Amino acid sequence: MIESILFDLSGVLYDGDQVIPGAQQAVQRAQRSGIEVRFITNTSQKTRQNLLLHLHSLKFAVEETQLFTAVDAARQWLRQRNLRPFCLVHENIIGEFADFDQHNPNAVLIADAAEGFHYHSLNRAFQLCIAGAPLLGIGYNRYFKSGDQLVLDAGAFIKTIEFGAGVEAVIVGKPSVEFFKQVVASTSARPEHTLMVGDDVFGDVEGALNVGLQAALVRTGKYRPGDEDKVSGDFNTVDSVTEAVELALNNRG
Ligand SMILES: [Mg+2]
Repeated sequence: MIESILFDLSGVLYDGDQVIPGAQQAVQRAQRSGIEVRFITNTSQKTRQNLLLHLHSLKFAVEETQLFTAVDAARQWLRQRNLRPFCLVHENIIGEFADFDQHNPNAVLIADAAEGFHYHSLNRAFQLCIAGAPLLGIGYNRYFKSGDQLVLDAGAFIKTIEFGAGVEAVIVGKPSVEFFKQVVASTSARPEHTLMVGDDVFGDVEGALNVGLQAALVRTGKYRPGDEDKVSGDFNTVDSVTEAVELALNNRG
């Protein structure tokens, strides 16, 4: 039985500025059916506000309270511990951390900094971590699809600092158990009646299965043939979000 769907964004609803064919109708169908919907993303190149604008410009009716981002989770984590972060993040989202004291940092946050990943900035992160600062990572995503190319994501750089400094990052976005739980808790559905739809077999599918959700891997976005064999567990592999919603509607309580 499915009562709630969590949609990943990039690779499921769109690739860059291109809507994945049928995605708008699929989300709309789910919304009209009365299934609760949430949107959950590790994307860290846009502010929350710009992400909402982007979704609205692509004609996805996403309400502010339905959007859960790893960047927000990072903010909460840092705030709860009253930390002063060194933010190795994309220039577009620097403003999201403007209200934090960043002098004399005692924590490191790594998100998808793109061109901001260079020796100087990575070395600064390394030096802080080897001196004991906690390392916070947005997600272990290895790569994502941008236009028609696969491009390196934050996970590869988080691993770099973990390796160099001999530390383990705290991951705040998918597949963090806390992050999934927070999103599920915002719905009235039980975890086992919640379907996660994603194109990342590790972050989306394996992460969801680990917290007892159902999962559907879409063959769009970053999906590569054979991805479905990389994790064990019971989940569906579907052509696109259209088929995932169809599956959910056929399994309504
Ligand atoms: Mg994705």
